[in-house]
Amino acid sequence: MAKQNKRTRIVCTLGPASSHPSILEKMMKAGMNVARLNFSHATHKDHARVIRLVRATARKVGEHIPIIGDLQGPKIRLGVLPDEGVVLKTGGVIILSTALKTYKGDALPVTYTGLHKDVKKGERFLIDDGLLELRVEKVIGTSIHAKVITGGKVTSHKGMNFPDSVLRVSAITKKDKADAIFAVEQGVDWMALSFVTNAKDVLALKRLIQKQTPKGQTPARVIVKIEKPAAIENFDSILEAADGVMVARGDLGIEIDAEDVPIRQKEMIEKCRRAGKPVVVATQMMDSMIRNPRPTRAEVSDVANAVFDHTDGVMLSGESATGDYPLATVKMMAKIVMEAENSVYDDVALELADGEDSQLSAARAIKLLSMDGAIHGVIASHELAPWSERALTMHPEIPLYIATKDARVARQVSMHWSAVPFVMKIQKESTFIRAAIANLKKQKLIKKGARLVVVTGHLYGDGIDLVTVE
Ligand code: PEP
Repeated sequence: MAKQNKRTRIVCTLGPASSHPSILEKMMKAGMNVARLNFSHATHKDHARVIRLVRATARKVGEHIPIIGDLQGPKIRLGVLPDEGVVLKTGGVIILSTALKTYKGDALPVTYTGLHKDVKKGERFLIDDGLLELRVEKVIGTSIHAKVITGGKVTSHKGMNFPDSVLRVSAITKKDKADAIFAVEQGVDWMALSFVTNAKDVLALKRLIQKQTPKGQTPARVIVKIEKPAAIENFDSILEAADGVMVARGDLGIEIDAEDVPIRQKEMIEKCRRAGKPVVVATQMMDSMIRNPRPTRAEVSDVANAVFDHTDGVMLSGESATGDYPLATVKMMAKIVMEAENSVYDDVALELADGEDSQLSAARAIKLLSMDGAIHGVIASHELAPWSERALTMHPEIPLYIATKDARVARQVSMHWSAVPFVMKIQKESTFIRAAIANLKKQKLIKKGARLVVVTGHLYGDGIDLVTVE
C-alpha cells in the first residue's frame, strides 16, 4: 500500500501486542502515523523502552512519527481485585471503599480517596465503559453502599464514571505531573490531557511543559481529550488554548447521551478544521478486531464516516495495544480510509471564508488552485510562515510539504491530515525555494514540471511564489 497516498492519520495506541520491533515496523509500513502511549498503564521504564523502539523504527522506515503521551487525568478506577474478577449481581448491593487499595472482605477498592465525600444518595455511576450501572444507596464513613442496576463481572483497574456527581478532583493529578515531567524528559511530541473541563486546565499543563522543557527546545504540544459535558460547554475556549483535540468517545459516550456523540463529533471536527488544529476521532473504531480478524460492517462505516466528517486522524486503542490482530487492524483501517478519501463523499464543501480571517482565505485559495489541477503541491517553511499549517484546513487534494529545521516540529506537524513534513536546515527567505525544491527532488517527492506554491512568509507581499520545478 502506498502509505504516502493516505491522508488521514492512523493513531495507534501501543501496548504488549505492538511493542515489538518487527510488528511495529510492519504497522508503520501499513499506515500507522502516530504512536500513543497510555500513561494509565505500564511503568516509566516500560514507556521509555517503547519510546526508544518507536524512534528507532520510525528512523528505519523513514517517517516522522509523533508520540503522544496520554496522561491518565482524574480518571477514577477500581483498585486491585482478585485475578478471576468479582461478579456484581444485578439487584444486589455492593460496597465501594475509598480506604482500601486491594479487595478485602467483599469491599471493592476505588482509587479516588475523596469519593465518599462527593457522591450522594440516588446518584448513578458506571463501571467498565458503562457496561455496569449502579446507584448510591448510602455512604457510611469511607464506604459507599450501592445497588447494582446492571450487573456483570469486574476486574482490576476498570474505569468508573460518575455522570450525576460533582467531583472535586484536580485536572492534573500528582501522577499526571510525574508522567508529564517524564514525558518531557523523553522528548514526547504531544501530550494528551484527559478529562479537561476548561481552558485553564490546558494552560496549566502548557506551563508545566514549558517549565520542564530545556531552553532552546520546542515544547510538546497539547491535545485535549473531550470526554466531559463541561468540555463540550467550554469547547470554544478550550480549543483556543489547545493545539489539537481528541474526540474521546469512550468516556464521552458515558458522560453524555450516547446518541449525542455523533453530532458532537461532527461539530468538534468542523470547529477544529476552521481553527487549523488537528482533531482525532477515538475509541471503539475497530473494537471487534481486538478479538476477530475482520471488523463489523458498522465499524467499517464508522471509520469511513469519520473521514467524510474530515477528521485529521482516527485512533486505535485496545485494537493495537492488546488485541489479537494489531497489524490486520491497521491494514484494514488504512484500506477503509483510502477508499473513503477516494470517494466523492470526501470532498469538502468550501464554505465562504470569514472576511476577517486572511489565513482561512489563503487556505481556501490553495484549495481552489488544487481543485482544477493548477498546482501539484505546496511547499511551506514552518519557521518563516508558521501559519502555513492552516493551509490544510481546507483539505486540498495535493500534498503540503512543510519544511522545518526542527525534527520535533516535523513530528508535531505530522498530526495534520495530509501534511508531509521534512527537515531542512536552510530557512532563509532568499535561498529557501531552491533548497526546498532540491530536497524534495532528492526524496523523489516532486518531479520536473511540477507546479508548486511556495510559502516563505507573510500572506501578502512577496511571501508566496508560484514555481515550476526545473
Ligand atoms: C476515551 O475515553 O475515548 C479515551 C480515548 O480515553 P482512554 O482511552 O484514556 O480511556
